[in-house]
Amino acid sequence: MRERAPDVWQIWGYAPGFGRAAGNLINAYLVEDVLIDAATRHSGKRILRELRGREVEAHAITHAHPDHQGASHEICEALGVPFWCPEGDVEAAEDPKLIRERQPNHPIARFYTRIFTGPGHKVDRALKEGDEVGGFKVVETPGHSAGHVVFWRESDGVLIIGDVLTNMDQLTGRPGLHEPKPYLTPDPAENRRSVKKLAALEPELVLFGHGRPLREPRKFVDFIEALPD
Ligand SMILES: [Zn+2]
Repeated sequence: MRERAPDVWQIWGYAPGFGRAAGNLINAYLVEDVLIDAATRHSGKRILRELRGREVEAHAITHAHPDHQGASHEICEALGVPFWCPEGDVEAAEDPKLIRERQPNHPIARFYTRIFTGPGHKVDRALKEGDEVGGFKVVETPGHSAGHVVFWRESDGVLIIGDVLTNMDQLTGRPGLHEPKPYLTPDPAENRRSVKKLAALEPELVLFGHGRPLREPRKFVDFIEALPD
């Protein structure tokens, strides 16, 4: 894993076999002693290996989608840590059948749900606006999922943005800022409103669920301001 800011480590979350070429495709983060996101159900061993020797006290997710909760159950069981999930996604995190039902009815969504979704896991804490997680504040950003949240550390302007925006095209893997694909986003209009809300933060560093870190506050704000209201 690689340190991206003080007490913030990025973990490559993608499946074995792809090696470093797959860096940034699906990301997870260790912030202080909290693991944020857990990639796919094929990623458990890899993430656990990366966490070896580190202190982990809890596991939180930005949203209950297959490439973020996939290894959550395996990791919580292996480390004996509590599972924290945004309030609006608690039911889906506990019962992954709802993850599929809440996705748009599109072949790509069905495919990715089938290959990535992990088992459900009992949620120990429902995250709400203003909660503190590993030195970050929870900001509610619904749209890409019912309960999606981001994590914001104002002191040095670090934003863990989940999938409110991606920094690569999720189909081609090409780098660049994008809104998440509409066929993987139950409510794109609501997600757009969440995106708009984040511009005001002017983050120094944005850490994405998909894509490499962005240290260009102007680029982030310009991209958002260019989106229609
Ligand atoms: Zn995702």
